[in-house]
Amino acid sequence: MALKILIAASEAVPFAKEGGLADVVGALPRVLAKMGHDVRVVMPRYYKVNREKLALTLLPGVLTVPMGIIGNQYCGVYEGRMPDSDVPIYFLDHEEYYGRSGLYEVDNQGYLDNDNRFAFLSKGTLELCKMINFRPDVIHAHDWHTAAIPVLMNTSYRHDPFVGEAASLLTVHNMQHQGSFYEGLMDVLDIGWEHFTFLGLEKENQTNLLKGGMYHATLLNTVSEGYAREMQTKEFGWGLEWVVRERGADLYGILNGVDDHEWNPETDPLIAARYSAVDLSGKALCKQDLQRNCGLPELPDVPLIGMVSRLVKQKGIDVLAEAIYRILDLDLQFVLLGAGEPWTHFYFGDIKAAYPRKFGVHIGYNNTLAHKIEAGSDFFLMPSAFEPCGLNQMYSMRYGTLPIVRATGGLDDSVENFDEANLAGTGFKFNELTASALFDTVGWAVYTWYNRRDAMERLIKNAMEKRFTWEEAAAKYEKLYYLAVEKRMGEKRSRGRSTEPR
Ligand code: ADP
Repeated sequence: MALKILIAASEAVPFAKEGGLADVVGALPRVLAKMGHDVRVVMPRYYKVNREKLALTLLPGVLTVPMGIIGNQYCGVYEGRMPDSDVPIYFLDHEEYYGRSGLYEVDNQGYLDNDNRFAFLSKGTLELCKMINFRPDVIHAHDWHTAAIPVLMNTSYRHDPFVGEAASLLTVHNMQHQGSFYEGLMDVLDIGWEHFTFLGLEKENQTNLLKGGMYHATLLNTVSEGYAREMQTKEFGWGLEWVVRERGADLYGILNGVDDHEWNPETDPLIAARYSAVDLSGKALCKQDLQRNCGLPELPDVPLIGMVSRLVKQKGIDVLAEAIYRILDLDLQFVLLGAGEPWTHFYFGDIKAAYPRKFGVHIGYNNTLAHKIEAGSDFFLMPSAFEPCGLNQMYSMRYGTLPIVRATGGLDDSVENFDEANLAGTGFKFNELTASALFDTVGWAVYTWYNRRDAMERLIKNAMEKRFTWEEAAAKYEKLYYLAVEKRMGEKRSRGRSTEPR
């Protein structure tokens, strides 16, 4: 049976992206549609979503969104298509909430009205169904930004003729960011203060949207099996580990795929030369091009380590900061692209000044450079403290760039450690989140590069042969949707009501 699936998220490639969430929402709908499902996507129309360039059409009428104590809010809805597909995407066009340069923040400060902005997205998604006459079988929400959707579906929208019967799936891409706000958000959600409890949306006297979503979603998943296990522990649960454990029977791990349209060295238009596992000659040109772009000497005989990341503690940037001087004393080059905590911008700028011939840094977001780094580097570093899935290690393998990763979450699930005896593996892994473990493993990789060409060639071949396809991931999501629909129907039959969580 083909399903009607509504996917609601705060970002999607190619329209707006801050992290891996956008890659997932950009790729999954197209594949689900190919499998025969009727898929629609909803997200905000930020300023950067250009109506003219994307040839968006304004739907007739105005969407009315009841925002509780704030009263009704109104927005226009633009319709477009997900790239290379017929999948409709709807953009909620609310000037006051979304007409800004950033998605969530400006100058590293979260917008003060993020609670209302994303309550609006959640409620707007549900209201939109009426406007476009769409009765979804399942609504798929992502992270805290749309985590209010399962809550609303179980409460104020439980009798709604368009969404009241639908099942919900909440995908948690990151447990750290929970959408925790002033308790008064309950009056905007307008679902009744009886839900502001320890076993509801309340956490530390705040309204916690992720927690609410985790309680109310029909099913839950995260983006790797490893992280599904980790998020049930104190170290990775950010105070919600017991909620995850309570919902453990309904929690699944599905590793993300690699979007072949975007990340494929055989077709990538953003890199200097195309190449494949059969003919790697183009990769040498990509390395030269990257070195030139980063102001580094164009040396083919020195290993180059790349890193593209949000420069935050989650990504192990503090550990890298501690290890970087020792790393740069090795005979190698290092290129860093990213933005994040303000101190990192100065810190790594100073490193560039101290090691101009070895270290290249670009502070900011730059998709073209990210592709050039994937293609032009020999190794790709991800020393994450935690990593629900991680995409760059998978892109790296596809580009024959060996990942050096901390063995956590999706990094541990997707990278196979170098086995010197059997010449097996696809990268280099370390366990301890310390500067010395990081340094030792970089040293191991660099040693291998200089002294074990045979091993390098095998590892590169192994890595490039690895496939993380969206077809595989989407088939798993499809199973979850069916399971969620069945569960929701069972709940409705047995309870005759849906006020209880799940
Ligand atoms: P997260 O979502 O936690 O940031 P992921 O590894 O899941 O981490 O996804 C990060 C995505 O964002 C990757 O596609 C990566 O290439 C991209 N990315 C991160 N920082 C930058 C940047 N400064 N410039 C370009 N792309 C970036």
